[in-house]
Amino acid sequence: MLTKTKIYLSSPHMGTSERKFVADAFDTNWIAPLGPHVDGFENDIKKYLGNSKEVAVLSSGTASIHMALQLLGVTVGDEVLCQSFTFSASANPILYQGATPVFIDSESDTWNMCPELLEIAIRDRIKKHKKPKAIIAVHLYGMPYKANEINAIAKKYDIPVIEDSAEALGSSYFDKKCGILSDIGIISFNGNKIITTSGGGALVVNTEELKQKAVFYSTQSRDNAPHYEHSSIGFNYRMSNVLAGIGRGQMEVIDDRVHARKQNFEFYKKHLSQFEEITFLEEPDNFFSNRWITCIETPSYELREKIRLEFLKDDIESRPLWKPMHVQPLFKDSLHFTNGTSEDLFQRGLCLPSGSNLSQDDLLRILTNITKTLKL
Ligand SMILES: *Cc1c(COP(=O)(O)O)cnc(C)c1O
Repeated sequence: MLTKTKIYLSSPHMGTSERKFVADAFDTNWIAPLGPHVDGFENDIKKYLGNSKEVAVLSSGTASIHMALQLLGVTVGDEVLCQSFTFSASANPILYQGATPVFIDSESDTWNMCPELLEIAIRDRIKKHKKPKAIIAVHLYGMPYKANEINAIAKKYDIPVIEDSAEALGSSYFDKKCGILSDIGIISFNGNKIITTSGGGALVVNTEELKQKAVFYSTQSRDNAPHYEHSSIGFNYRMSNVLAGIGRGQMEVIDDRVHARKQNFEFYKKHLSQFEEITFLEEPDNFFSNRWITCIETPSYELREKIRLEFLKDDIESRPLWKPMHVQPLFKDSLHFTNGTSEDLFQRGLCLPSGSNLSQDDLLRILTNITKTLKL
């Protein structure tokens, strides 16, 4: 009897050139956190983002957020405003720096940082003599945040914005690629992201000088001397030349990967819109989402769980939307400015399998399962 294979939420999808680049790293013995693939991968990303920024590839998206905070001088006792509806990796680097996160809820058009709440929070913190040192906004599930509004508020109060574009490589906003929309951008190449180096990330900055500073911190902050001399704290965060080789191969297929994920979204929308219980987040005008993950909203926690548990029985992976940071045990004592949006979405929303390597059979199996549940 044929046994069904597990369908994952988002699994790695290699193209045809990755092995060649990795073999080249072996053949030339560039098995180190520097080398031609590191430079080549950085150039590929820089070009893809429109050549207006400098790129440093690092060991992860989390490391990239950490280095962004380091570049901005965020330190012990500082406050950093962070989108609450996100993965914990957006917020953890604030703790690495000994700083304090203050969480901001989302608005319902994009599920991302609410500009009104952001301004309320900034004014409150300034009044209490705690002007925030930085803002971390997130393009969740690939949907761009309202960058014009967020940037305008940030500028008004002179606070830099870190753009967490971990899930949004290939998304764009008013024809500009996500990753270059605010002061410092970060990208992730973790195994579940739109393209992957198995693990990896990138920091996107405005000047070559800032890039070199980030590379300096990320390679143990070695001062210019024949011996090991250090005048600042160092980190070991540079990307390996072997993994950058995978990244170069993946950059050859990024457009196909975005296209495939958009197709998944269109498939689900076409077949599930007939059920009034299922709704999708649409792109506002001039927003382009890479649809990293297709998410659905259901009317209730109960129905969401019913769908999720039926998927589980058929070995189909699905997952509730991100649990907001301000209700996570780790951050339970953190200050937060909320409006109920993210807590509500966490109750009723579900992430559907969305990999660019899903077959038509996989999609039909998922559809059959959920259709059956909805008719139960
Ligand atoms: C994946 C992710 C990160 C962290 O990236 P890693 O490369 O896994 O360290 C940060 N923020 C968001 C929103 C993510 O989804």
